[in-house]
Amino acid sequence: MRPWEANRDGTFAMKTVAVLGGGPAGSFAAERLARAGLKTIVFDEKLAWEKPCGGGLTYKAYQEYPFLIENDTPKKLIHSTSLCAPKGGTVKMRLDRPLVIYSRLDLNRMLLERAGKAGAAIEQTRVLGIERRAHGWRLRTQSGVAEADFCVIATGARNPLREVGTEWSPQDTMSALGYYVPASRDEIDIQFLPRLEGYIWVFPRCGHLSVGICGKGEPAHALRARLERYMDERGIAWRGSKFYSHMLPSLASPGWRKNRLAGEGWMAVGDAGGLVDPITGEGLYYAMRSGDLAGRVLLDETHGLAEKAAAYRAVVAREFALDLEFASTLARRLFLGTFLFNSVPVRMVQFMRRSPRFRDLMQDLFAGTQPYLELRARLLKNLSGTLQEVLVNFFLNRVVPENSRAGL
Ligand SMILES: Cc1cc2nc3c(=O)[nH]c(=O)nc-3n(C[C@H](O)[C@H](O)[C@H](O)COP(=O)(O)OP(=O)(O)OC[C@H]3O[C@@H](n4cnc5c(N)ncnc54)[C@H](O)[C@@H]3O)c2cc1C
Repeated sequence: MRPWEANRDGTFAMKTVAVLGGGPAGSFAAERLARAGLKTIVFDEKLAWEKPCGGGLTYKAYQEYPFLIENDTPKKLIHSTSLCAPKGGTVKMRLDRPLVIYSRLDLNRMLLERAGKAGAAIEQTRVLGIERRAHGWRLRTQSGVAEADFCVIATGARNPLREVGTEWSPQDTMSALGYYVPASRDEIDIQFLPRLEGYIWVFPRCGHLSVGICGKGEPAHALRARLERYMDERGIAWRGSKFYSHMLPSLASPGWRKNRLAGEGWMAVGDAGGLVDPITGEGLYYAMRSGDLAGRVLLDETHGLAEKAAAYRAVVAREFALDLEFASTLARRLFLGTFLFNSVPVRMVQFMRRSPRFRDLMQDLFAGTQPYLELRARLLKNLSGTLQEVLVNFFLNRVVPENSRAGL
């Protein structure tokens, strides 16, 4: 019994899936569904566009989906990074698995084209509202009304559809903004900043740099001022460069626990489901992977339509959401904590200079292959002496956030 032919009780046939949003998450879901023969329609108000983003894809992403690196789309492979912490100096590291950086226009176009080639219909229109019917959905779009049996919600972090997807509280988001600067370089820069749960990045792309900042709990104008100061100090021209800003999901622990990821007749994928790493801000892999998983769950013949939401929630939790939820408990300590009278970012830079094993760990973090849930065990296994003590203490919550030390 195929899910698009008949429900388990034989009363309802799923014929059409509407994918709302044609970013990486929606395109991946649409490609998977259309390739299996399901009638799939993607609705996106902009189609391929330069969505505000660094555009960096980790090894984890192109290892899982090799076409992300094996293609003719313009992209930059970056083999070297530098990390800088205030009063800690800079450390450089060669990346044994490069970061791949796309412009989002190019990446989105490539992914949408794949969905189209797989057989998905792609319509440029804004979805204005969705309404649940006895069987399926009625969609109101700028160009008219459409019917669908199932909705994949892929409308991103600014999902305007109130009844589906993550419900944001202020603790569950951060601002992210930056400039596209016409310049070139071959190395990523990561800059930590005093009293900021976030960081600055310089990501080289083909023909320009994406220079940006993300930070939790600080207003966008203050982040922008920090970024412009940094760019002035480094001689990176922000005046005359194109500015971008967007909301970045960064769910805190309670947000993960009550996350509205799926319901009757719908599943949220990518940013619309809050699926972003709360430490690094990596969202592209989770968008594509969740789109793929949503497609697989929909196509899975072992459970009926009523069981799809629970099945999707379970597979997302198992694959990465539990890990990201754990990461949300580490983020603040990583950026703002101290140990041995210095900030964690400074210690990170120092350990990278001094410990090959710590550098290996950082390699895996940059590649996206080190689960946060296994970080403590790895530190315990690999590191010895003082370093082990210090890091174990860090994970046993003995560090004091800088803010509380300063009495803020
Ligand atoms: C400044 C910044 C930098 C980032 N850098 C990185 C990075 O370097 N690496 C990384 O992995 N992640 C990064 N991220 C996160 C990444 O951009 C997102 O996680 C990713 O774009 C999520 O993909 P998505 O398909 O879920 O949503 P989106 O890419 O936001 O796509 C949503 C789509 O839905 C469409 N849409 C929305 N509403 C409607 C509607 N009502 N009707 C029709 N269409 C609609 C939009 O047009 C859009 O095309 C960054 C984020 C920000 C803000």
